[in-house]
Amino acid sequence: MGVEDIRKKMRAIPGMDILLTQDWAAPWIERLGREAVKRVFNAELTALRRRILAGENEPGEGFPERVKALCLSSLTAADKENLRRVINATGVVIHTNLGRSLLAEEAVAAMTRTARGYSNLEYDLKKGARGQRNALIEDLLCAQTGAEAALVVNNNAGAVLLCLSALARNTEVIVSRGELVEIGGSFRVPDIMAFSGARLVETGTTNRTHLEDYANAITENTSMLLKVHPSNFRIEGFTLAPERRDLAKLAQDHGLLFMEDAGSGLLVEGETLGLQGETSVRACLEQGADIVTFSGDKMLGGPQIGAVVGKKAVVDRLRKYPILRTLRVDKITLAAFEATLRLYSRGALDEIPTTAMLRLSQETLKQRAESLAGKLQAQVSAKIEVIPVEDAVGGGSYPERPLSGWGVAVSGHPAGGAGHLQALLRELDVPVLCGAREDALIIHVRTLRDGDSETLAEALSHLGGEARYDTEH
Ligand SMILES: *Cc1c(COP(=O)(O)O)cnc(C)c1O
Repeated sequence: MGVEDIRKKMRAIPGMDILLTQDWAAPWIERLGREAVKRVFNAELTALRRRILAGENEPGEGFPERVKALCLSSLTAADKENLRRVINATGVVIHTNLGRSLLAEEAVAAMTRTARGYSNLEYDLKKGARGQRNALIEDLLCAQTGAEAALVVNNNAGAVLLCLSALARNTEVIVSRGELVEIGGSFRVPDIMAFSGARLVETGTTNRTHLEDYANAITENTSMLLKVHPSNFRIEGFTLAPERRDLAKLAQDHGLLFMEDAGSGLLVEGETLGLQGETSVRACLEQGADIVTFSGDKMLGGPQIGAVVGKKAVVDRLRKYPILRTLRVDKITLAAFEATLRLYSRGALDEIPTTAMLRLSQETLKQRAESLAGKLQAQVSAKIEVIPVEDAVGGGSYPERPLSGWGVAVSGHPAGGAGHLQALLRELDVPVLCGAREDALIIHVRTLRDGDSETLAEALSHLGGEARYDTEH
């Protein structure tokens, strides 16, 4: 394409002023604001120019209409919320990319109440004086874990950082080489340790660490033994780690702290949720940990929070530590956390979505899959089968141990194969995330919420026509 050609095409692109005064732009300027509309137009015009320079056949036939269509499509996209609800049909309960835990209705109600009105967030109503926001949940958290004292911060990574920084700065902390983990999203034990100012002392080997390894690593500069939940990986086979009770005794004999990063933080015994070999926070403390940290939004099923529970003398040292303020929990989160803890007090595990989903029986899951399959068979022209599937706890918790679940396989859909269907489902107003196996789309029912089945059936029944259109263009 010659330079003249390009010039000609560039000149045919309407200017910003022209676009802004088009009739079809007016309602969008009203809705999104003039600046936002300008940004959208600008991006479209820039993309157009780039395509012309790249020698693409722009502007083709019906140029003004095409520019209008491009702009309208971008304006519609800009009007959609960025953070949106999605349907999780992956069977991964604590899905790290999909917001981890869903909150119980009571937690949502508490958040709304707290957002709408003033609250006694930092006001002691009995004394009529300033109070502590942490006091709102401390008793509840102690009751659920058997701890003497408790403190909450923004998330578990923050809790670990706070503890190491406040309790072990400029001293040595001993960690087993089998527990120097990296949790997704860049939480690495050695990095957090370095940042906190504590010195990491590795001991033992990747698969086996003996009590003597810890004992041999202790020097006059040691302040802490740290146990870290391996969370997202499992070492199988010839493995060994000392009992918590023995580590606790070793720490005590040397005047050291014994801290545990429990990761997910179970408030009930693992078996209650159908999980084998997971230790509850209460059991960690009973077996001698001085302090335990854990997340609020993993298996606990509450909001994003980091909890520190344990001996009062230790927690009191944290309360005075200056960076505590930078990790402060906001009132909406505290409201949700309190409500979730109250559900635990009542033993209402089936009202907390995360624990409820983990506890679903095979029978219930199969029934749900059959009911969804029925809806799909009635509305969608494709092969629909109820199949056993592997679900997962997720959230870097309980790795390599799938949960048995049930799902629905969709194949031979007019819109195309599994990969294509997955992509189309992600583009819906309420995007849907599904699994795939060979060329079948797999809908895991464990993580579906009320009404999701209907939405899915509706979506899959409509996709055919649009999809053919999409692939042609
Ligand atoms: C998940 C996890 C963390 C990080 O917790 P966040 O709540 O995501 O900050 C830290 N340690 C362990 C062992 C974990 O599993």
